[in-house]
Amino acid sequence: MNQEHYPLGQYDTVGNTPKFMLAHCIRQSRFGDPETALAVEKVPVPAELKPNEVLVYVMAAGVNYNVTWASRGIPVDVIAFCNKNGEPEEHFIPGSDGAGVVWKVGSAVKNVRVGDEVVIHACKYDPEEPHIKNGKDPGFAASLRMWGYESNHGSLAQFTRVQDHQCLPKPKHLSWVSAASYMVSGATAYRMLHGWTGNTVQKDDPVLIWGGSGGLGSMAIQIASVAGAKPVAVVSSQEKYEYCRNLGAVGVINRLEFDHWGPLPYWKDLEKYQGWLKGAKKFGQAFWKALGEKKNPMIVFEHPGEDTLPTSILVVERGGMVVVCAGTSGFQGTLDLRYHWMRQKRLQGSHFANDEQCAAFTQLVADGKIDPCLSRVFPFEETAKCHQLVTDNQHPPGNMGVLINARSVEQRTLNG
Ligand code: NAP
Repeated sequence: MNQEHYPLGQYDTVGNTPKFMLAHCIRQSRFGDPETALAVEKVPVPAELKPNEVLVYVMAAGVNYNVTWASRGIPVDVIAFCNKNGEPEEHFIPGSDGAGVVWKVGSAVKNVRVGDEVVIHACKYDPEEPHIKNGKDPGFAASLRMWGYESNHGSLAQFTRVQDHQCLPKPKHLSWVSAASYMVSGATAYRMLHGWTGNTVQKDDPVLIWGGSGGLGSMAIQIASVAGAKPVAVVSSQEKYEYCRNLGAVGVINRLEFDHWGPLPYWKDLEKYQGWLKGAKKFGQAFWKALGEKKNPMIVFEHPGEDTLPTSILVVERGGMVVVCAGTSGFQGTLDLRYHWMRQKRLQGSHFANDEQCAAFTQLVADGKIDPCLSRVFPFEETAKCHQLVTDNQHPPGNMGVLINARSVEQRTLNG
């Protein structure tokens, strides 16, 4: 076999590493949407492993927005960022979701061995940072980096280099591509709903979930439902109603029936402000109707950001929490402080998840309590195309995946 690089899906011996690999790469000269920014290149396989690092032969990768942001170089120029942080390559391999086979391990690795089948989570950090050594939440570590976004060598390549703690046993019943599709959205949703003491999701809690049929939303509906809560999903078309209901939503709202979205009008502009308030209150009533009782959400699962945050803050229950992990529609978050302080609401930022939360979420998947919601699978060659669909909000409900070394949608082990 050609040792320069393995053809996709082939290898000679487990653990034998070629010099080069095929990878989807971004370069500064190509920054733009994924369809132009991503190109297949033959690049070196990461040769050196630190004691706590693992080389994984990637079988499949997940599809998510991190690749959109990395492709555009906005809001972060990922290449400049990685260069500054000790990764000198001029090409960047994105991809924050993946599953594969452990191919090589660093000298101190104890949790996995060559040949193990793993799913990879994206939370990387410096284990020597005092915060981590003191046993504190890695989610708050100054050295926290998202693998395949804030650090190079993501999953859209034949091999990836990760830290040992990022590897979790692959749920055996899942195909490679299904296993690769869920972690970013699932573990993020898990931290949002279970990670914030005082406002964790409880049995019978009404929960409002924006983008209920999306990657995050489809996971959030199931997590809330498994906890015995009552998720109400928001979508933008009637066709998505059934999808959300099948995942456990007790009700669904179509956001296109409202037109008050966007940043809050200035409170002294009474005409515009009253117009907004009318729309937001009408939305609150639609929530009661979808829920089937006159109760406000205890948690609002927020990620559209600019368009929806004012409404989220208004409708959340007294003492409840709006938990936000993104600003897909824009980054200017506006709110009316009068509702916020008088009703003692919580606006909580949340970003991905720590090792424990990734493991807890994967356990729910392994136990068959949560479906990864794999919707569509693409061959390696169509990686740019599927990320462009996400960028244009033209993708189907749930999570999508890409075959890297796996040769079929059904493949579950290294060889079959
Ligand atoms: P997704 O699959 O595209 O789902 C997002 C959904 O949001 C869309 O399907 C859309 O559903 C809805 N939406 C879009 N624009 C909206 C708007 N203006 N108002 C209300 N709803 C809107 O994406 P995703 O994977 O769930 O990710 C969503 C965001 O979270 C992205 O920005 C992503 O980068 C971010 N994210 C952050 C983290 C983190 O760790 N911080 C982790 C994962 C994802 P409808 O059109 O049906 O309403």
